[in-house]
Amino acid sequence: MIATHNPGKLAEMKELLAPYGIEAVSAGELGLAEPEETGNNFRSNAAIKAIAAAQATKLAAFADDSGIVVDALDGAPGIHSARWAGPSKDFTAAMTRIERLLQERGATTPDKRKAHFVSALCVAWPDDHCEEVEARVDGTLVWPPRGTAGFGYDPMFLPDGHSRTFGEMTSIEKHGLPPLGLGLSHRARAFVKLAEICLEPR
Ligand code: IMP
Repeated sequence: MIATHNPGKLAEMKELLAPYGIEAVSAGELGLAEPEETGNNFRSNAAIKAIAAAQATKLAAFADDSGIVVDALDGAPGIHSARWAGPSKDFTAAMTRIERLLQERGATTPDKRKAHFVSALCVAWPDDHCEEVEARVDGTLVWPPRGTAGFGYDPMFLPDGHSRTFGEMTSIEKHGLPPLGLGLSHRARAFVKLAEICLEPR
């Protein structure tokens, strides 16, 4: 099962699992409560979500904890990336907040607007053991946001070496998985590592 209530993440995680012949149900579909993310880093929050879901369902549970880390904002919003969008999950407001803070700090040129996405993935098995991996993708924040694909902060994130933001890419391009690439997004890169540990292609 996929331990998330975030529809954007759920879609990507299902796509990443599909080539392995794995069908997954989500925490949302099963009506599970969202555990409190009390960890102080991505890895521990991923483990909290995966372990809670595995214990509740007795199924193997796959969780992602992720976020955007902005250099000029001393790493914010980081593990608080979802919270910056507020209860109404308004990512236009969250991106506007980042932009306002960048402007206040004079971060107007690309070299001062570096950021990276991080994804920590955890699979918790019903016998209580866990597999954990983490990966990142580096890029630059653009303004105004570009594109309507993806979710969250995708429209303002231009990955290094590319001319289109994640918001302008299809999910296939954003994953950048073989045969098209070796993994582009933080989640796809982490997934490649996880697959090496515990998945076999069909
Ligand atoms: P959490 O892992 O549920 O705490 O939430 C992570 C938050 O980080 C998401 O709600 C998004 O705002 C942001 N985020 C994580 N991964 C991505 C991504 O691939 N694209 C855009 N935003 C992301």
